[in-house]
Amino acid sequence: MLEITDLHATVADKPILKGLSLTVAAGEVHAIMGPNGAGKSTLAYVLGGRPGYEVTHGSVTFNGVDLFEMDPHERAAAGLFLGFQYPVEIPGVSNLQFLREALNSQRKQRGEEPLTGGEFLKLAREKAALLKLDPEMLKRHVNVGFSGGEKKRAEMVQMGILDPKLAVLDETDSGLDIDALRIVGEGINAIMRDPAKGVLLITHYQRLLDVVKPDRVSVLAGGRIVQTGGPELALRLESEGYDAVMADA
Ligand code: ADP
Ligand code: MG
Ligand code: MG
Repeated sequence: MLEITDLHATVADKPILKGLSLTVAAGEVHAIMGPNGAGKSTLAYVLGGRPGYEVTHGSVTFNGVDLFEMDPHERAAAGLFLGFQYPVEIPGVSNLQFLREALNSQRKQRGEEPLTGGEFLKLAREKAALLKLDPEMLKRHVNVGFSGGEKKRAEMVQMGILDPKLAVLDETDSGLDIDALRIVGEGINAIMRDPAKGVLLITHYQRLLDVVKPDRVSVLAGGRIVQTGGPELALRLESEGYDAVMADA
């Protein structure tokens, strides 16, 4: 589903990704772990097409199509979802307006009929319930005054509504307390655990992987994947640390 080959990327002319290769197969959760500054968020931004992140070499295909031939809206309409560590606030726009506009614009690009107001509300309430988010929160402006945990749950409601094929989730667990972590993790499972879908799950902590059990775990360090293994690799990283595990690689 996602195939990244020898990817090099720079930020402000500084090389950050230096020959990164990895795949995500349909039906798979591939966890990416790695020390601070390794390039994990840069990878997520490059996949999303964020301005300022320049690809200098390598290729990325998404369901066989060259990702870099698509603009960010086309990537989203094709089923790519990005969840970020610091969700943005959008004063003046309610969650419901924002989500309906996002969904219907993606449906339009795919040649599908827009959802009616009633259909959309039903869908939004269903996903809010899944994430145990008070549906009244959806009437409030996007993320304005939301706690860290509410922002993450609102983002997962967004993911549930958009129903992507591939989710790239960057430290979705950061700032969550134990109960919110479980709710968000179970939300990811409910929305994305599907033979036709894939997840690239960037995290520092085993605790999210206790809920969202990865099929594969890779270590990103110095802009490259330096080690790949099964779920046991995450457990080793947790107990021994990156330096010890990478010294053995
Ligand atoms: P991670 O998410 O793995 O902690 P990042 O992808 O955020 O790492 O950052 C990788 C490296 O890129 C770091 O050294 C960081 O300082 C640098 N970097 C990220 N964004 C910028 C930027 N806008 N300008 C300059 N350097 C940046
Ligand atoms: Mg970081
Ligand atoms: Mg980061």
